[in-house]
Amino acid sequence: MVKLLAVKGVFLSGVLRGGNRYLFDFPLFRGENASLVGKLFWGTVHPARVRGCSRLGWDASMKAGKQTTLQVDATVTGIGVHSGLPVTLTIHPADADTGIVFLRTGIEGSPDREIRADVRAVTATEFATVLGDREGPLCSTAEHVLAALSGLGVDNAMIEIDGPEVPIMDGSAEPFVAAIEQAGIVTLNATRRFIQVLKPVRVARDASFGELRPYSQGFRVEIEIDFDNPLIGRQALSLDVTPESFRRDIARARTFGFMRDVSKLWSAGYALGATFENTLVITDNRVLNPDGLRFADEFVRHKALDAIGDLALAGAPLLGAYRSVRGGHKLNHAVLCALMADPTAWTVVEAGRPVRRPRGHAEITAMAPAFGPDVS
Ligand SMILES: [Zn+2]
Repeated sequence: MVKLLAVKGVFLSGVLRGGNRYLFDFPLFRGENASLVGKLFWGTVHPARVRGCSRLGWDASMKAGKQTTLQVDATVTGIGVHSGLPVTLTIHPADADTGIVFLRTGIEGSPDREIRADVRAVTATEFATVLGDREGPLCSTAEHVLAALSGLGVDNAMIEIDGPEVPIMDGSAEPFVAAIEQAGIVTLNATRRFIQVLKPVRVARDASFGELRPYSQGFRVEIEIDFDNPLIGRQALSLDVTPESFRRDIARARTFGFMRDVSKLWSAGYALGATFENTLVITDNRVLNPDGLRFADEFVRHKALDAIGDLALAGAPLLGAYRSVRGGHKLNHAVLCALMADPTAWTVVEAGRPVRRPRGHAEITAMAPAFGPDVS
């Protein structure tokens, strides 16, 4: 049916928070936080009230080329990995063409604030992807929940959080995937739109580079990391991203950090919530977490997860391949900005036919390029 979508397996854009090394500190070792951490670690996925209407699987939705949203609310609670503070996150269903929107509640003395998950809303990429507006940062560590939504093919949702940071849960996207799947995904009566990469766009920084290029089979990630650490070393992962591959190969991979960086992070006010239950902690040659790794190459898989999340900030699923070598959040963001800044490098397509863009501007204004040349 839809020409473009007839291509098998596409669609996820994602958030790849690919590049930067997540460096955390580990309050687990700090007595004053031990009891709080003990209570909150893992976080909780709350049972959703699922009504009796039928659900469509992702595959059916995607083949139909229709937009999707959640059937009912999906709620998780946990702590922010950097702030260490408890936070409740609820993913609400949203109408077609809403995209993914964050709603920050609970701001003392201020009204609730809303911000679209869009590359133009990124205010920081140092230790996590932070979204904000003119009034300041609004939502930190957005990448894992964005990866889950993107990975599962959810086009529209409102993510309500009552704190400044998305809960870290177990350090992966799995708890968000579980909550979303428990709530159910339904199709909407609106055609899905994609951002199709038309020509390669590349950003190089020192020994790192990232590139988006055309890819006719859907959305693909090719991630390579090379750490001067015998436990990690060089790892590479190439994958066509589909809900199945995301669930199976990416979603469970956890964030990681180096023990040696702990004190530096603490003194900078980061990673105050990191524990063995939400971060892989590495010394020079071993993983300190008692249960070890979930995958032998969990590190590069998490980089892929991050990249899928960061690229979800394109605002629509990407049709293209993303290659990242020694990258991170900053690089993912720079490549996406470079793509958006070149109107000849991408176009918006929906269910098999291009959306006309008069004079180089997207018909969908939310996706219109708004970047200066300095981003690359
Ligand atoms: Zn991550």
